[in-house]
Amino acid sequence: MADRYGVIGHPVAHSKSPWIHAQFARATGEDIAYEAIDAPPEGFVVAVEAFRAAGGKGLNVTLPYKGEAYRYCAGSTARAAAAQAVNTLLLDRERPFGDNTDGVGLVRDLTVNLGRRLQGAQVLLLGAGGAAQGVLAPLAEAGAAGIVVANRTLARAQALAARVPGAAACGFDALAGRAFDLVVNATSAGLSGELPRLPQGLFRPGALAYDMLYGRDTEFLAMARAAGAATRDGLGMLVEQAAESFLVWRGVRPDTRAVLAALRAG
Ligand code: NAP
Repeated sequence: MADRYGVIGHPVAHSKSPWIHAQFARATGEDIAYEAIDAPPEGFVVAVEAFRAAGGKGLNVTLPYKGEAYRYCAGSTARAAAAQAVNTLLLDRERPFGDNTDGVGLVRDLTVNLGRRLQGAQVLLLGAGGAAQGVLAPLAEAGAAGIVVANRTLARAQALAARVPGAAACGFDALAGRAFDLVVNATSAGLSGELPRLPQGLFRPGALAYDMLYGRDTEFLAMARAAGAATRDGLGMLVEQAAESFLVWRGVRPDTRAVLAALRAG
């Protein structure tokens, strides 16, 4: 019987992860089954335990459960501990163990797929939720010269930035007069068609605006395009974090190019 994996979240019906992991399994010859599990509010731990009791070996965790997944785990990798968020659960051991592949997924999409240099870059990270937590330390480790975390709720930005040496925090208004080489939107504002209240002039010449959301042209990307920045959605990050999870679970890193190209082709 195939080894069982899946993605757990709420809602999760829209998730592309089952399709992505099916492609990875076919390409690598790994015998896995991968399903989507919708866990209702308050139902995360019960759903994970049921999956584990049924022999499930691993789960990806998506909105809104990454923080809860971290607290649920008995142990975690350093990158998950730095993020205090888990997007990859390993369940085929005595006690549940957590990892976080969002950061490496974003950095690989930026540097390998998009050919961007992070060394020396001035980076603005918008948002301080689960996704921002996962990528802040990896962005810093990739060599960014400076990182500012800006969030609607200032205290959350401050708490996040305090965990990474050299990172600074502010509210959106305090960004006036500052410009960046890379602006990553890790807010969920685009999900409701909203745009964080950002000042003009955020983009240096040649800057990239990256929205972690995918599958839609967000207000953020439209604003960035109008300001002359290059733009990219988070589809590449999605595929790269999935490949890293597959590597963690199966010990083999699938090639991502064909999968990403197929998703982009629609
Ligand atoms: P989350 O934990 O719920 O955090 C949401 C963040 O967005 C918070 O910082 C929140 O600010 C901010 N926010 C929400 N509405 C806003 C608005 N109208 N204006 C300004 N800020 C607003 O969500 P998450 O897990 O971090 O996910 C964030 C986004 O990243 C989602 O759209 C998700 O789909 C995407 N994502 C993509 C990938 C990928 O692989 N491409 C991976 C992970 C996440 P407050 O703190 O003030 O509430």
